[in-house]
Amino acid sequence: MPQGSPPAYEALVQFLYGAPVGLVQTSLSGDISMINPKAAQLLMPLVADGNLFNLFDVLETVAPQLRALAMQPTESGSLICDALHLPLPGSGLSATVGAAQRTLALQLLRLDDATLMGTLTDATAAIQHEQQRLAARLHAATRTDVLTTLPNRLALLEAIDAAMENGAPPPGVRWAVLLVNADRFESVNITHGPIAGDAVLRAMAGRLHAFAGGPTAAHDGHGCTVARFGSDEFAVLLRVQGHGDAVDTPGSDAATAACDTVARSLVESLGAPYRIGDTGVHASVSVGVVGVDASHRHAVAVMQDADLAMREAKRLGGSRHSMFTPALRTQAWKRGSLEADLRRALEESQLFVVYQPIVSLADGAVTGMEALVRWQHPQRGVVPPDQFIGIAEETGLILVLGEWVLLHACEQLAEWQRTLGPRAPRSMSVNLSRAQILEPSIVGTVARALAASGLAAGALQLEVTESLAAQDTVVQQRLEELKALGLTLALDDFGTGYSSLASLHLLPIDVVKIDRSFVAQSVTNPHHRVLIEAVIMVARSLGLQVVAEGVETLAQAELLAALDCDKAQGYFYARPSPDTAATAWLLSR
Ligand code: C2E
Ligand code: CA
Ligand code: CA
Repeated sequence: MPQGSPPAYEALVQFLYGAPVGLVQTSLSGDISMINPKAAQLLMPLVADGNLFNLFDVLETVAPQLRALAMQPTESGSLICDALHLPLPGSGLSATVGAAQRTLALQLLRLDDATLMGTLTDATAAIQHEQQRLAARLHAATRTDVLTTLPNRLALLEAIDAAMENGAPPPGVRWAVLLVNADRFESVNITHGPIAGDAVLRAMAGRLHAFAGGPTAAHDGHGCTVARFGSDEFAVLLRVQGHGDAVDTPGSDAATAACDTVARSLVESLGAPYRIGDTGVHASVSVGVVGVDASHRHAVAVMQDADLAMREAKRLGGSRHSMFTPALRTQAWKRGSLEADLRRALEESQLFVVYQPIVSLADGAVTGMEALVRWQHPQRGVVPPDQFIGIAEETGLILVLGEWVLLHACEQLAEWQRTLGPRAPRSMSVNLSRAQILEPSIVGTVARALAASGLAAGALQLEVTESLAAQDTVVQQRLEELKALGLTLALDDFGTGYSSLASLHLLPIDVVKIDRSFVAQSVTNPHHRVLIEAVIMVARSLGLQVVAEGVETLAQAELLAALDCDKAQGYFYARPSPDTAATAWLLSR
């Protein structure tokens, strides 16, 4: 007991009595010898019967371990517990909705052999603060893309929802979403490796970020949220600021023109080459643009429309943007039903192959056949490939379909060789689409088709379109691998795509097929005739054979022969026909 001057003693008592911290002194078994009002007040919710005699009795329900802890032999001055959190009953879940769980923090100290000293504080605010801090960090982490540090899909969807929930935008303003998807990004990954692929994505994010002036919140007035929406996909929520009222109307010229300009510059800016380490990497993007309007109930619906528009941009060749129109929804629905039908067609053998002869212009002899797929649709009748190859490519069904055609075609030629002997065509041409060539297993698939049919590799010709073969190292490498099997390669539809006469020598091809659009006008249009002549001359110098496609008239056939074209294919000789008709045609020659 302090024996000093009474005023000092009294001041100390006053100080302890009025302290904003709960103070309690007990025996080792918890019997309370001293307690200040703050401690009594804090403990009160735990006191069931109004008795504040024993601290451990009071805390029995929330900290039953204390009694045993206090009994353990410890040195004087050591802590028995430090900031032990004691949840108070009657708060939290059972209390009013939204009320926080109240919590006490207890520190218990062993004063000497017989006494414990406890401090009690209300930890509710501190705990709440810590919880809020953690929640904020979690909120940010779950809304940030790790690779690019841009906001992620969730963040963008929330930003769109927020923009929509804020009611009608101010006059002259509306919201639009641009969905940006990298074109053929898989070939960037394959050619340059996944680390470079990631670097390109980060660089794209950087360009988008710069474009938007920083990934700001959608509703803060800056008008732009840029997010990484998927693996090789980004999205921009754009505040379109137009002039006058015109921009308010969805699809109005002002709004569309504003979006159009932005999308165009995005395609251009993201399509410029990337410098990754010492190498330059080419990547382009396709952009789908949708104006947010009353037909959209939530962000997901907006993104679905943006996706339709983006896919349309890809279908048109990529490296461009497309505006969403409601017609795209109908088209997508139709394609969806055709896709389901096509799956069934593959299972139920509704597909069949027709064969069109390729003849030598010098003597009219049949040199080969081209296999062309057809679909006997139960309701629609015979569907031409133009109407389903695209869907098969988009859905990946082309792999099964292509392998099926390849097997059939190889077997058909093997059979003709067995049954027709010298009258059999020397080679079989089969079309390959891009998705098939990008698939590394294609080389094995082709080898298996040859082995299964017993056909010599030299009798198989694979046709690839020129847009496909141009400027793509993965495709070129795959073509080399295919050629190593011993087969021949033809460049299909020449004149319609990107590759020029000057780059013909870069491709590992044996044959050039001049597109039928040039042949059709060869007699009437001097420009087309000149082009055909030029192709033939360049091909000659490179040791390539030339086939003219779509020859329909005698005049065209005679002109091509005069221009020294090697071979021709077209309705003038024969239409593509099923195996039995093709066999009869071969026998009739
Ligand atoms: P393609 O490879 O250029 O095939 C030639 C197309 O021209 C065929 O159309 C053929 O029927 C048509 N044709 C031939 N001679 C004439 C003619 O004198 N006049 C006219 N107007 N057309 C002629 P088809 O069979 O409709 O095939 C269209 C395209 O579909 C093909 O173009 C090819 O790119 C693709 N395709 C066809 N079968 C397959 C296949 O099994 N796999 C893949 N990946 N694509 C295929
Ligand atoms: Ca072809
Ligand atoms: Ca062709």
